[in-house]
Amino acid sequence: MFDPERVRHDDLRGGTPPWAQRPSRPARRAVDRDFRCEILVVGAGVTGSLAAEHLAARGHQVCVIDRQRPGLGSTAASTAMLLWEIDRPLSDLTDLYGFERAASVYRRSLEAVTGLAALVEGRGLACGWRPRQSLYLAAGDDGARTLLAEYELRRRAGLPGAFLDHRTLAREFGIHREAALLSPGSADADPLLLSQALLTAAAARGAGFFDAAAVAYDHGGQGVTVGLDDGHVIEAEQVVLATGYVMPDFVASDLHRIASSWAIATPPQPEALWRDGELIWEASRAYTYARTTPEGRIIVGGEDDGAVVEPDERDALMPDKAAAILRKLSALWPRAEAAAEFVWSGAFGTTGDGLPLIGPVPGHPRIHAAYGYGGNGITFSYLASRMIAASIAGERRAWFDAFAIDRDVPAAALREMA
Ligand SMILES: Cc1cc2nc3c(=O)[nH]c(=O)nc-3n(C[C@H](O)[C@H](O)[C@H](O)COP(=O)(O)OP(=O)(O)OC[C@H]3O[C@@H](n4cnc5c(N)ncnc54)[C@H](O)[C@@H]3O)c2cc1C
Repeated sequence: MFDPERVRHDDLRGGTPPWAQRPSRPARRAVDRDFRCEILVVGAGVTGSLAAEHLAARGHQVCVIDRQRPGLGSTAASTAMLLWEIDRPLSDLTDLYGFERAASVYRRSLEAVTGLAALVEGRGLACGWRPRQSLYLAAGDDGARTLLAEYELRRRAGLPGAFLDHRTLAREFGIHREAALLSPGSADADPLLLSQALLTAAAARGAGFFDAAAVAYDHGGQGVTVGLDDGHVIEAEQVVLATGYVMPDFVASDLHRIASSWAIATPPQPEALWRDGELIWEASRAYTYARTTPEGRIIVGGEDDGAVVEPDERDALMPDKAAAILRKLSALWPRAEAAAEFVWSGAFGTTGDGLPLIGPVPGHPRIHAAYGYGGNGITFSYLASRMIAASIAGERRAWFDAFAIDRDVPAAALREMA
């Protein structure tokens, strides 16, 4: 586990992703005195940005602190495939929690991407947002029969999508796998631009931004006193923790684990890409995934490794992992110019059941966790922003329990973490 006081952005990611590098906006001020605010958001990556924008839009007085340049932590490493399909297939989640709860989680995820799309459009957030379909490919032991069962379960849950057999998949997409699920309702974007646009929108509604590191949280009756590394304190009625894969000790959860992941971006491709630039991913636990960019690049990622956590070791593996990813790209899409113009790596947080950790921190009801882990990190960050705002307004719902930090998790999911 990362030491929360010492981890820096360089520990969270290495190499160079292809995202637009812009000067940090809005500018962060230094904290030069103690002060009070209604809601303090700790962390200004995409999770904190979503929370700050939404809470400010709901009329709260919001302050945001980050100890480094916002967005340049895990957010910059993201490949920003904004999928509603969760890393854990609906069938797996049903085995863990039963159909009703699993289906409800999937529907919340679909609503989250739909909500994020409406937010981006409604606020005119310039972030390269593109509505996309997703293509979930049969892989390994998970062949046509497994995908058909997943498709039928999704239909029963009221989720959209179509089952493609081998012939249809080959004819429509030129991709040769046993089968696939084609689903509407996802999107891709530039994660850094998204995060910055959200922070700018929050600032326009009066949110304050500060360059500060939280080092202590003292939970009193009426609020939380947050100690900063320079000795100042901020007193907040409520605190939202959006510190990414670096969790303060008191948010400990057995469910959470850090792994490493790698990605590449090709040069703009000379030949046409697959049909409409669908978001591609595989029906396998260690899946490879691919998306395109508006410039015609292909981004491919995967090769996740739970045994590699140490940042230097992770970054040293970049050439080998890039070579392995390029081989997978050639197998998936033989017409690609399989070269890596950008190679990067990142720490990757996962949970035993594939669901995020969202909600009040046990024993600290005024401190809210916004940890959207896994390949749906940003979808879950959106969900966190809405759930936390509702909790603060006293509008807690029964379905929030599925994401609670102290949820009861079946032993099977915990064993997988071991
Ligand atoms: C290679 C890779 C590919 C991914 N692909 C996808 C994808 O396709 N789709 C998807 O949805 N998700 C994806 N993810 C996951 C997604 O990127 C993350 O879930 C998301 O970026 C996390 O954002 P965050 O704001 O929570 O964390 P961060 O961006 O890391 O932001 C946390 C911020 O908190 C600050 N901070 C930490 N501690 C303190 C403190 N004590 N005081 C003050 N500030 C503090 C940090 O400086 C940092 O800026 C991917 C991740 C990786 C690594």
